[in-house]
Amino acid sequence: MSQHRPHPAVERDDWAAALRASAARHLYVGHHLRTELFMGIKEVSCRCGAVELRIVGEPAAQLYCHCDDCQAAHGAAYVPVAIYPAQAVEVIKGNPSPMAANSLPRMRCAACGTHLFNEVESFGLRNINGYLLAKGEFKPQFHVQCEYAVLPVVDNLPHYKGLPAAFGGSNELVSW
Ligand SMILES: [Zn+2]
Ligand SMILES: [Zn+2]
Repeated sequence: MSQHRPHPAVERDDWAAALRASAARHLYVGHHLRTELFMGIKEVSCRCGAVELRIVGEPAAQLYCHCDDCQAAHGAAYVPVAIYPAQAVEVIKGNPSPMAANSLPRMRCAACGTHLFNEVESFGLRNINGYLLAKGEFKPQFHVQCEYAVLPVVDNLPHYKGLPAAFGGSNELVSW
């Protein structure tokens, strides 16, 4: 009667639609963003407090990235990422510095080295370092770029070899 559904979380939500809807809403609201989404405002900072970000609304997607670029930039096996429309993330204190020699413009605090966000300009997105969010606010939905994984991270989430189809990927999963 029912089809085999290995990853119900993916079938329940359409990530691309969520991204588009979220981006469209923020674009439309423009500079009235803060008032409009007043209840969803949070402010986060790097470890030393030199840089602060104001984030409006909920992320379009949250994930773990295993790509080799994230590994090299963070010195970590994989990193938590919360994807927001660029307009939803504002630097309200300090000046984040771009890291050299990375495929994406990755911004961090020059004083304490905390990774803040990277820009995906073609999609109008700012990908926030999930570690900046308050405990419990980072709610990962899936893993991406698992073909580069240093080691399997076994949990109940989908593990995409590259990217999900909604992000322009093949949707292919790895065995773990
Ligand atoms: Zn800092
Ligand atoms: Zn990555």
